[in-house]
Amino acid sequence: MANHRSTIFIQPEAPAKPAWGSACNGCGVCCLAEPCPVGVLLSGRRTGACKALVWADALGVYRCGALTEPRQVLANRTPVWMHWALRPPARLLAWMAPRWISAGTGCDCSLEVWTQSGKIRIDTTELTEPPTDD
Ligand code: SF4
Ligand code: SF4
Repeated sequence: MANHRSTIFIQPEAPAKPAWGSACNGCGVCCLAEPCPVGVLLSGRRTGACKALVWADALGVYRCGALTEPRQVLANRTPVWMHWALRPPARLLAWMAPRWISAGTGCDCSLEVWTQSGKIRIDTTELTEPPTDD
């Protein structure tokens, strides 16, 4: 994970990032910062926001497209003439993706998110102690 400052663009309605180890709330920070190994394959790059990340407007959260839209995610990476053949690999991706991305194991992202105005943006609902901003 990157250990420098960088700017990421987050949907304003997205939940704030929870503390490391908390349940994943779909804030999207980790995948907007850089792709995971699966995301590198699906994005075709090692840096920047993962191209497989999907904003679920109705839910107000980010979702991993490898889980929720595997066929579309693969279609984004393949020429149109190959799209007819994507059903089997999309099923495989949807089946394997939870294990590959460690879905359901909690937030493993230690990044800190700061707003442009300099305030730390963190979901405190699962914290036992209030965060400090210094
Ligand atoms: S793993 Fe953490 S940073 Fe990534 S989407 Fe879930 S809560 Fe957000
Ligand atoms: S979890 Fe999914 S959306 Fe996030 S970086 Fe990995 S492949 Fe991309």
